[in-house]
Amino acid sequence: MTRIGTDIDEAVAVLRAGGLVGLPTETVYGLAADASSASAVRRVFVAKGRPVDHPLIVHVADATALERWAVEVPDSATALIDRWWPGPLTILLRRSSAVLDDVTGGRDTVALRSPAHPMAQAVLSSFGGGLVAPSANRFGRVSPTRAEHVVDELGEAVDLVLDGGPCRIGIESTIVDLSGPIPRLLRAGHITADQLGGLLPDLEVAGGDAPAVAPGMLASHYAPNARVVVLHADAGAAQVDAAARPHLAAGRRVGLLSPGPIAPVAADIVLLDPAGPADDYARVLYSRLRQADELGLDVLIVVPPPAVGSGIAVADRLRRAAHRS
Ligand code: AMP
Ligand code: MG
Repeated sequence: MTRIGTDIDEAVAVLRAGGLVGLPTETVYGLAADASSASAVRRVFVAKGRPVDHPLIVHVADATALERWAVEVPDSATALIDRWWPGPLTILLRRSSAVLDDVTGGRDTVALRSPAHPMAQAVLSSFGGGLVAPSANRFGRVSPTRAEHVVDELGEAVDLVLDGGPCRIGIESTIVDLSGPIPRLLRAGHITADQLGGLLPDLEVAGGDAPAVAPGMLASHYAPNARVVVLHADAGAAQVDAAARPHLAAGRRVGLLSPGPIAPVAADIVLLDPAGPADDYARVLYSRLRQADELGLDVLIVVPPPAVGSGIAVADRLRRAAHRS
C-alpha cells in the first residue's frame, strides 16, 4: 500500500534515496523526484507514462537557486520572481550545465518554479536541491488536487504521498518563456496575461486556437473518461437541454457542470454541485471531472465561467479536456 502521511523528514529521505513523492503544491499535486538524479527522473516518466520529450519543471525553494539551474537571468525574470515567487508562476530560462538532459528533453532551456504550499516549501528547504514535480497523474489524464487522487492515479508507483489538503488554486502554473528576446506566455494559469503585462509590456500571448507552443501542451489533455461538451459561458437551460437531448435519446448518462444553478433542465440530467465564479471554478474543476467518472457519466456538459481572470485558464483546460483526437 502506498503510504499517505505528513512527515516532511520521511519525504526528504525518500527523495534522497531516488524515490517518488506525491507533493502538494498550491496548483495541483506533483510527482516529485530529485532533479539531479537521472534514474529518479526516469522513474517519473515511467510512472506517469509520459513521453520523454515532454520536459519537466524544476521546483526550487527560492530565487537563490537560480544561479545553479539557469544562466543569463534577465531583469524581467527578477521582476517576476520578486512579485510572484513563491507562487503559481513558472519561468523558462536558458539552462546551466547542472540541468540533466532527461529533465529538459535535451532543450537548452529550463523551466523553474518556487511553489508556495507550506509543505512543498518545507520539503524543498530541507532537501536543498531541485525537484521535478509534474502533475501526479497518468499522462493525458485529470490532474490531482487531493492526496487520494494521487493514490488513485499512480498507486504503488509512488512511494509516499504527503497530504497537504485540497489544492488552493487547482490548475497548473502559468508558464512564461523568458529565454528569448520577447517574453512569451506558454500556458495560461491563475496569474493572467493581463497581470504579467504590467511587468512585461511586450509579452506575446499565444492562445485561443493557436497551435500549442510549449512542448507537452497538447490539444487533448486533462481528459476524464466521460466525453466533455463545452457550451458558451452564457448558456442557459435551453442550450443545456439542446446539447443533452441527443445523448439522452441514445440512452447515455449525461451530467452538467456550471458556475451556478441552471434551472430547470431535463430531469434526467445529473447536476454536479455548481463550481462557482472563476477562482472557485478553477479550484474544484478537476474534482468535478473525477466525480463525473465516479458517477459513470458518459457525457459531461460544461458551462464555463466567464473568460476573465482564472476563467481564461479554466477555458483552456476545458478545451483540452473536450478535445478528441
Ligand atoms: P507540468 O506537466 O505541469 O509539469 O508542466 C510541464 C510543462 O512545462 C511542459 O509540458 C512544457 O510545456 C513546459 N516546459 C517545461 N520545461 C520546458 C522547457 N525546457 N522548454 C519548454 N517548455 C518547457
Ligand atoms: Mg500535467
